[in-house]
Amino acid sequence: MSSVVRTRYAPSPTGYIHIGNLRSALYEYLIARVNGGKFILRIEDTDQERLVEGAVDVIYRTLKICGLKHDEGPDIGGPYGPYIQSERKNMYLPFAEELVRKGHAYYCFCSKERLESLQKQYKEKGEVFRYDRHCLGLSEEEARSRIEAGESYVIRQKMPTEGTTTFHDVVYGEITVENSELEDQILIKSDGYPTYNFANVIDDHLMNITHVVRGSEYLSSTPKYNLLYEAFGWEIPTYVHLPLIVKPDGSKISKRKGDATFEDLLEEGYLVEAIINYLALLGWSPDSNQEIFNLKELEKIFSVERISKSPSVFDMAKLRWFNGEYIRAMSLEDFHEIALPWIKKGLEKDLPTLPIARMIQPRTEVLSEIPEKLGFFNQLDEYNLEIYTHKKMKTNLEVSLKSLKAAVPALENLSDWNEKSIYDALTALIEELQIKSGQMFWPVRIAVSGQLVTPGGAAEIAAVLGKEETIRRINTGIERLSAAV
Ligand code: GLU
Repeated sequence: MSSVVRTRYAPSPTGYIHIGNLRSALYEYLIARVNGGKFILRIEDTDQERLVEGAVDVIYRTLKICGLKHDEGPDIGGPYGPYIQSERKNMYLPFAEELVRKGHAYYCFCSKERLESLQKQYKEKGEVFRYDRHCLGLSEEEARSRIEAGESYVIRQKMPTEGTTTFHDVVYGEITVENSELEDQILIKSDGYPTYNFANVIDDHLMNITHVVRGSEYLSSTPKYNLLYEAFGWEIPTYVHLPLIVKPDGSKISKRKGDATFEDLLEEGYLVEAIINYLALLGWSPDSNQEIFNLKELEKIFSVERISKSPSVFDMAKLRWFNGEYIRAMSLEDFHEIALPWIKKGLEKDLPTLPIARMIQPRTEVLSEIPEKLGFFNQLDEYNLEIYTHKKMKTNLEVSLKSLKAAVPALENLSDWNEKSIYDALTALIEELQIKSGQMFWPVRIAVSGQLVTPGGAAEIAAVLGKEETIRRINTGIERLSAAV
């Protein structure tokens, strides 16, 4: 085996990237980088019935935006190509035939109907279906002549019926299974394509993969892969199986049940960096309390020894928290740029977007929540006058009415309409009237927004709304308060 660490990301092109799958890609990438090794992309498309148009592009795009740059792959080539299994189709059969010759595999001609009725029988008995080795006894000549006669066939792995198979996994330790429990799995299908179970072993060997990193759902098949490596006399790679990802209720994540894929998360306004950071910690932990990591840092400190084997809980609330942290760490300009489509979505009028971005940046966790926060910029909704009363601000309806009445002429007089001029004018009024600042800023903010909680203060909101609209809203407040006191 080569001494250079080589890992591979081997997705099946299904059209979307499942969160667990992206975590595998990330860990595979990090294990390669941290060891100064190579990260390979291999497309596993041997299941021709499940092919989805454009799905390979989704994989390229995802790796690219995540910054998981591969060193070899279908799009960039490399010394072990082709990197798409369908383009390697003819490479697998000779290996399966070699196994037949060595007595580790056999041809099987069982029809679909026979297998279905067998399956039914097992089901009725309440047993797990296992192929009954009906074709195991066929002689090689007989098998040959049936193949030559054009009969459809598969090649199955011949499992030992006695003894045990033991393998070592970096995360799960030593695992031993009874060979009698292993099914004679199909290696080559009737359409001539290899199964995943066969192709992954052949390709991992031919591509010199040193570390096989994948989800723990493959743990139970690993003894079968090991028997293949042994039958060929090949060196067994280092196995790193990753813990299951579950939801807080313990159930599995699934797109069919509506759980978010990577693309969904992006569409909802999660940032790539936050997702990557969150996924890095979904099954791995650093040896410090640090939680915020960028990819470059992870490339230095990631270690397989700190991957956990207990299921990792995918907690949206925690991901939101990470996202909020990343949003707050951005410069206003960068935030404005990524938030702009969402701000525009929330605004029905042409208002200045930079000050809005500044107001919402500290309070935004996910970009998709932006539009709903901006509704009050479009129109002033009916609001309950009680929100003018605030104990700490020392306001009530009378105080508010007085302040608003004083604010109108002061604001009308302003020739320059900006946050500072508005703020200064209101501050001057506060001094003139000898009142507390909250007694002015609170009612003005309520009058211009109609909301108890707003992003930004009175002067910020008024600056964005413009003079005319601000005065109109304050006058509405005055009218309503006058009728109430
Ligand atoms: N094609 C398999 C998948 O998408 C890859 C599993 C592996 O990494 O070996 O799940």
